[in-house]
Amino acid sequence: MKRIGILTSGGDAPGMNAAIRAITRKAIHEGLEVYGINYGYAGLVAGDIFRMDESTVGDKIQHGGTFLYSARYPEFAQVEGQLKGIEQLNKFGIEALVVIGGDGSYHGALRLTEHGYNTIGLPGTIDNDIPYTDFTIGFDTAVNTVLESVDRIRDTATSHERTFVIEVMGRGAGDIALWSGVAGGAEAVIVPEKDFSMRKIADKIRAGRNRGKKHSLIILAEGVMHADEFAKELGEYGDFHTRVTVLGHVQRGGSPTARDRVIASQMGAYAVDLLQQGKGGLAVGIENNKIVSHDILDLFDAKHHAELSLFDLNNSISY
Ligand code: ATP
Repeated sequence: MKRIGILTSGGDAPGMNAAIRAITRKAIHEGLEVYGINYGYAGLVAGDIFRMDESTVGDKIQHGGTFLYSARYPEFAQVEGQLKGIEQLNKFGIEALVVIGGDGSYHGALRLTEHGYNTIGLPGTIDNDIPYTDFTIGFDTAVNTVLESVDRIRDTATSHERTFVIEVMGRGAGDIALWSGVAGGAEAVIVPEKDFSMRKIADKIRAGRNRGKKHSLIILAEGVMHADEFAKELGEYGDFHTRVTVLGHVQRGGSPTARDRVIASQMGAYAVDLLQQGKGGLAVGIENNKIVSHDILDLFDAKHHAELSLFDLNNSISY
C-alpha cells in the first residue's frame, strides 16, 4: 500500500483536525502518500481530492471544526454513489481510507471495505453515542464548553434567585447532560435513558429554596423534550422564576481540549497501523484507556451505553 485518503463526514467535532494531522504525519513517517478528501463522501464522489504533505496539517491541531470540511450526502447509501466514489479513488490511486465521523459515516466506510478499499473509522462526534468506545473525539470539548456556560448561568441564576433549564445536545444519548450536570452541580439531569417525575423535580427545587438556596439548574438533553416545553410543565407545579437557555451549536465548536487532541492523535496513528497491516472495516475506539478496534459490523448490532452511574451520583450529591 502506497497511498491513503482521509475524509471527515457527518457532524463536525472538535479534535477532528488533530486526528487528520496524526493520520497524515504518521502515514508520511511510514513512507506513505496521503490525500485529503474535502466534504466527506460528497467530495469523494465529486473528486474534490488533493495531495497533502506534512505542512498541510501544520497549525491545525488547536482548531475546532474540520479543515477537510464535512457534508451530508445520503446518495452514498446507494451502490451507484459508492461506485462513483471508487472511480475517484482509482483515479487518484488511493488504496485505503480513514473516515472520521459518526454512525452513518461508518456505514459508508464498511461499504468501501466491501468494495475492496480497506477503510478504518474513527469516532468523531460530540454526542459520545458510538458503541465500543468509552469516548468519542469531540465529546470532552463539548462537555467543557457546556460547563463554561453552566458556570456563567449559575452566576445570574443566583443573583436573581432563578431556576434555569439548560438544553444541551444529545438526541438519543444523555452523555453530555450527565457529564456537564455532575461537573456543574446541576440539581437535575434529564436524559433520554431515564424516566423522570416533574413533581419530584419541583419538590426538590422547593426544598432547596426553603433551605435558602438561591439557584436551581436543570440540564436537559434535547432528545427528551424542548426546554420551553419542560419549563412550561415545571410551571404547573409552582412558580420557580424559570428561564430557559438552549446552548445549540456553540457546543460543536471551539478549540479541542487536551484530552480530545490526545485521543484523536492516538486513534489516528492507530488507524494507519491497521491499514498497514492490511486491515479494513474496523472502527477504532478507546476502552479502559487502551486504543482498540472492533468490526464495524459489530457496532451496528451494539448499543451505546451512557455512564448512568453519573445519574445516581448526581442525585445523591446535588440537591
Ligand atoms: P453524526 O452522528 O455526528 O451526525 P454521522 O456520521 O452519523 O455523524 P450521518 O449524516 O448519519 O452522520 O452520515 C454521514 C454520511 O455518511 C452521510 O451523509 C452519507 O454520505 C454516509 N452514509 C450514511 N449512511 C450510509 C449508508 N447506509 N451507506 C453508505 N453511506 C452512508
